[in-house]
Amino acid sequence: MLLYILPLTILITLTIIYIKFSKKIPILMYHRIADVPGDRNSLPPEKFEQQLQYLHSKGYTSINMEQLYAHYVLGEKLPPKSIVLTFDDGYADNLYSAMPVMKKYNMIGNVFVITNWIGKENKWENFGKQLTRTMNEQELLEWKGAGNYIGSHTCNHPKLANCNPKDLKEELRNSKTSLETFLRSDIISICYPYGSFNSDVIKIASECNYKIGLAIFNEVPLLRFNLLALPRIPIPSGQKMWEFKLKVSKIHIIFIMLRQLERRLKKLFR
Ligand SMILES: [Zn+2]
Repeated sequence: MLLYILPLTILITLTIIYIKFSKKIPILMYHRIADVPGDRNSLPPEKFEQQLQYLHSKGYTSINMEQLYAHYVLGEKLPPKSIVLTFDDGYADNLYSAMPVMKKYNMIGNVFVITNWIGKENKWENFGKQLTRTMNEQELLEWKGAGNYIGSHTCNHPKLANCNPKDLKEELRNSKTSLETFLRSDIISICYPYGSFNSDVIKIASECNYKIGLAIFNEVPLLRFNLLALPRIPIPSGQKMWEFKLKVSKIHIIFIMLRQLERRLKKLFR
């Protein structure tokens, strides 16, 4: 009996998730656009260009966080093939390597900056990564001036799910306030470092008046669509083009479901 019930339950759950999510906009997660052998989070510029060329040739339109919010909450229409390009940590190569390519293909990006690490070396990582620096204030203004978007990635890049209530509140609130003062505009989106969040993080993010929270696909409960816990799809340095095409297609949610399933099974049999 169990032999039939289990696959059937999985199939029904996957179908419900597919129906709920298949019309959602794919959100891609990049970090550095640079050639750094061995670093999964540094996508070589030629590969980035190949990916954008593909998106352009297929008629995709890149959108920002405010458009995403207006679509989901206010019901505003988006172009039929919309996609979101996000960049974590605010590296200077986003401006110097990614932006020219985005401009060439008429696209925009959303960068999430760590407010205490603006214009500094990436020493918050401190685990053998190649040293590089993040955009300084002048460069961030240039990024924004070219039509790109800036959101919060906290003040210090902690794992938010591990923070005590005081630190959690400060990380979310202070990064928002400092960006709003600097950019003189509302900051409605937060990107959780390491994709780490829980119900407390979502509650405080909502109290701080964030409207959109970005996570990584593996931690997001797909049965409950929540604007403060949106799944993103990582684009690692070794990304094959066929995988990329699958990740941005209408069936990208199937990719997310399969990867979640794979991770759960691995945990189960570890
Ligand atoms: Zn980060």
